[in-house]
Amino acid sequence: MQDKLLSGYIYDKKPVMIYWEMTQACDLACKHCRAEANPNRNPFELTTEEGKRLLAQLREFGDPSPHLVMTGGDVMHRPDLFELIEYGVSLGLKISVAPSATNRLTPDVIWKFKELGVLSMSLSLDGSTEKKHDEFRGVPGVYKTTIEAAEEIEKAGIPLQVNTLVSRETYNDIPNIFEVVKTFEVVRWSLFFLIQVGRGKVLNQITPEEAENLLLWLYDKSKEVKFAIATTEAPHFRRVALEQMLKEGMTLSEVRRTPIGRGFGIRDGNGVMFISHIGEIYPSGFLPIRAGNVRKDHPVEVYRNSEIFRRLRDYNELKGKCGKCEFRAICGGARSRAFAATGDPFESDPLCVYEP
Ligand code: SF4
Repeated sequence: MQDKLLSGYIYDKKPVMIYWEMTQACDLACKHCRAEANPNRNPFELTTEEGKRLLAQLREFGDPSPHLVMTGGDVMHRPDLFELIEYGVSLGLKISVAPSATNRLTPDVIWKFKELGVLSMSLSLDGSTEKKHDEFRGVPGVYKTTIEAAEEIEKAGIPLQVNTLVSRETYNDIPNIFEVVKTFEVVRWSLFFLIQVGRGKVLNQITPEEAENLLLWLYDKSKEVKFAIATTEAPHFRRVALEQMLKEGMTLSEVRRTPIGRGFGIRDGNGVMFISHIGEIYPSGFLPIRAGNVRKDHPVEVYRNSEIFRRLRDYNELKGKCGKCEFRAICGGARSRAFAATGDPFESDPLCVYEP
């Protein structure tokens, strides 16, 4: 079992997910914003031409195309958004969009995404009621806009992912948020476990024990619903789920075919790449170790050969208990949380209770 858990989870040729932060401009003021977004676009953002060049370069990762998520800030602040999506789709890129729920996200816009061939959309829900969600997002009316947008996305037949932050501030509300999510036609509920970067520095972590209980609860809930339940920056969900599935009598190859099993090994720099609004290349949006800039470096070359990406893909570089853990190849801990906590991206993930 040990050997099987340690092989086959290295994504050294291409990422599975690429996030392009097209702009940091946004009309919301979310408490946990990684991008510390503000209402104005940065004049040094990648231009339309630079954006097209980037899309063509990403296509050079080859077939099958990595999944590109256009995110922000709010992508709706880019007047060339449709042009860039159209160009990317024409190249054969799989493109999803993650807009902010503001009055820029009209039904016409949603149907235009459909027409352009957008693969999926995501919306955020961080509170189970109007009051809780709007307080978090910093602007009144966002909850209502989110619900209306979700309904329109459903009508347009675009697969919808709902993203929810997990922090001390939202922890007790997660079961209620789950009840709201169940009322939407979603394909995935993704829970983002706080990394204290950007504005998220003012929010608080839950304890490792609370994280473990929540992950066990999420695993149980994943058996009740048709949509996938996933975590971002909590890769130890894979350990929790694997242990439960093996207890339930599944074989390792059966586990690997589940939605959780298909994500084994994917973490910052190994299957994930992030490109900032000014073209900086990072292993993820939460790990601010710069590996290059698309204005002068080719993203394929940076992903495959830069020192930080290569080291992040090598689980033998891991330190502390993550370095000794038999689950390190499928999990490996959140490198961005280790970095935020210690300044060393190879240290242990402090949110995991497991003792190897
Ligand atoms: S100790 Fe590290 S590698 Fe092992 S399960 Fe926890 S976070 Fe993952």
